[in-house]
Amino acid sequence: MNHKPISARTRELLNAYGLKLKKSLGQNFLTDSHVLSKIIRAAELNKDSGVIEIGPGIGALTERLAEQAGKVVAVELDQRLVPVLKELFQHQPHVEIIHGDALEVDLGAVIQEHMRDMKTLHVVANLPYYVTSPILIRLLTERYPLTNIVIMIQKEVADRLAAKPGTKDYSSLSVLVQYFAEAEEVAKVPSHVFVPRPQVDSAVARLTLRERPAVEVKNEELFFKIVRASFAQRRKTLLNTLHATLFARVDKHQVEAWLNEAGIDPKRRGETLNLEEFATLVEVIDQKLT
Ligand code: SAM
Repeated sequence: MNHKPISARTRELLNAYGLKLKKSLGQNFLTDSHVLSKIIRAAELNKDSGVIEIGPGIGALTERLAEQAGKVVAVELDQRLVPVLKELFQHQPHVEIIHGDALEVDLGAVIQEHMRDMKTLHVVANLPYYVTSPILIRLLTERYPLTNIVIMIQKEVADRLAAKPGTKDYSSLSVLVQYFAEAEEVAKVPSHVFVPRPQVDSAVARLTLRERPAVEVKNEELFFKIVRASFAQRRKTLLNTLHATLFARVDKHQVEAWLNEAGIDPKRRGETLNLEEFATLVEVIDQKLT
């Protein structure tokens, strides 16, 4: 299919519909067809693929997804863009536009209703940056049967997704993501390919969902609580952090004993623990608490 230069398309559509972009909704539209191609390639789509797109904007990525996938459901929060999108895709019955908040839309029902015949499911999006983490946490913890998630996000956040223990980028989000998926950075994206230009550089990240989480954890709720608490006060030792946050009512020596039993030096910092060590610690604490 012949594509109009994407920046001309964006300009024309914004003018034609008299649209002013809203910073509060993270509306930085992508205007580079090479970057779109990289996103599409990374998602590895075919006609048996169903794609949920979050924040289609005026449909630059949606168009490309519609060419590759069997079904595309695009969820857009900005009511003004919904009629534009519906008009653009009126002759493509395999593209569904839903007005709603990606944090609230019933994605299970979307999958049931629109994707039942699809062999693989994907989320592909140039995400609104102000909700990157909550959207990612939702997609992963709610356990939709996704093959991969390919997202344009702030470069700084992309660095965190794939970060290794002991590095400055390693965070509770790194642990959560790596528990559910293999994370990689597919492309670095400079800020000038967006309209308007954001203040930060971006990157395309691909999360390939694991069949089973990376480590075995019986009490996931406790696992995520302990991981979050371990990163809450990065300059403190793990013992002090855990005692100050989650286990303030427990004797400090007790917390120290749990760490020792898990084979973890209480003087270490939370950010040095790998997934296996977090899992072992949670197993020890879970046994003591129940
Ligand atoms: N996909 C388009 C592109 O690549 O040019 C636009 C991407 S723009 C970074 C993010 C889009 O997400 C905007 O259209 C914005 O209105 C929409 N959006 C913001 N918050 C949202 C939310 N909570 N749920 C769904 N869409 C949202």
